[in-house]
Amino acid sequence: MPVTISAVETIQLRIPLDTWAPPPMFAGRPRTHVEALYVKVTCSDGTVGWGECFGSSGTAVIAAFDNWIRFLAVGKDPTDKGLVPTIERLLHGLGRAGIIMHALSGLDIALWDIRGKLEGASVSKLLGGAKRKRVETYASLLQYAGDVEHVKRNTARALERGYRHIKLHERTPEAVAAARSVTGPGIPIKVDTNCAWLPGEADKPVMGMKASDPYWVEEPIWPPEDFESAAKLRKATGVPIAMGENATSPSDFKKMIAAGATDYVQPSIVKIGGITQLFRIATESEKAGVTCVPHAFFFGPGYLATLHCIAAKERDAPLERLFADVAFVTYAKSVPDVNGGVDVPDRPGLGADPEEDLMAKFRV
Ligand SMILES: [Mg+2]
Repeated sequence: MPVTISAVETIQLRIPLDTWAPPPMFAGRPRTHVEALYVKVTCSDGTVGWGECFGSSGTAVIAAFDNWIRFLAVGKDPTDKGLVPTIERLLHGLGRAGIIMHALSGLDIALWDIRGKLEGASVSKLLGGAKRKRVETYASLLQYAGDVEHVKRNTARALERGYRHIKLHERTPEAVAAARSVTGPGIPIKVDTNCAWLPGEADKPVMGMKASDPYWVEEPIWPPEDFESAAKLRKATGVPIAMGENATSPSDFKKMIAAGATDYVQPSIVKIGGITQLFRIATESEKAGVTCVPHAFFFGPGYLATLHCIAAKERDAPLERLFADVAFVTYAKSVPDVNGGVDVPDRPGLGADPEEDLMAKFRV
């Protein structure tokens, strides 16, 4: 009997977060929790696959499953690589980016997990084989709103915990200099500005950061799809640029590369269409000479899926690790982050399932 999809379940989690500082704002609210949205797909033979959608989209993503996606997926062949593209096409009138794609990203990841489990192969093997067994992680600090004491203390904390790559979410040269004063030379410091400036406003602060040798400055320009302004900034300052977590479709990556806007592309697996799209973007971007360092500000199946993509893609890249004390970290035991690095699991599928018993406490 052919295996079919028998159930598609969404699991929303709110997990308390201690950032060792006042909580940063996100989407108009203080970020006090990790907001996560997992997808559990069960098949007729009992195989279960796990996926993850952009957690901040929360109940809007659940509505996309409840109203449309579940009905289009249940009863279908989970190994059919045409299934997600078919659903995407059927729903294209609802928007080619945003909520629907955040939802389909989770479904795509779960189907790769199922394919791996049915074939007895890891996701990285399905992607052509792991080119590396261990991937370095970078500590992605939360935003401390320019408070240099928080920046210094938490940069030191990241180094103490074994990280050798740091990312700040700050917007001032002073904050970057504060982190550099703690790390000394030789530790890459990435600076994420989350679309801080209008075109023309960014040159001065970015030039100010240059003195602290940033590894890259991330998303300096609002709106993020203004690739021409980013290209101008990149040329004028000579500071490496990174972008892509807010791309509105896979084709954006071709456009940002063609415009000369960026040195690194950062597709987000939970937003852009899952493993299928992320791996395609990585392959095409790296063929064009631009390294893919995916966005991964989450801990669930999307994190493991990103790990497999990094393991299998052409160029090595560090994996983002949200740096805070979190009440429950998925895969903390099965795929641990030790001394700033993660071993790539070679077990079937994603290589680990979320700990459902521990997760239950944080379900919304
Ligand atoms: Mg970012």
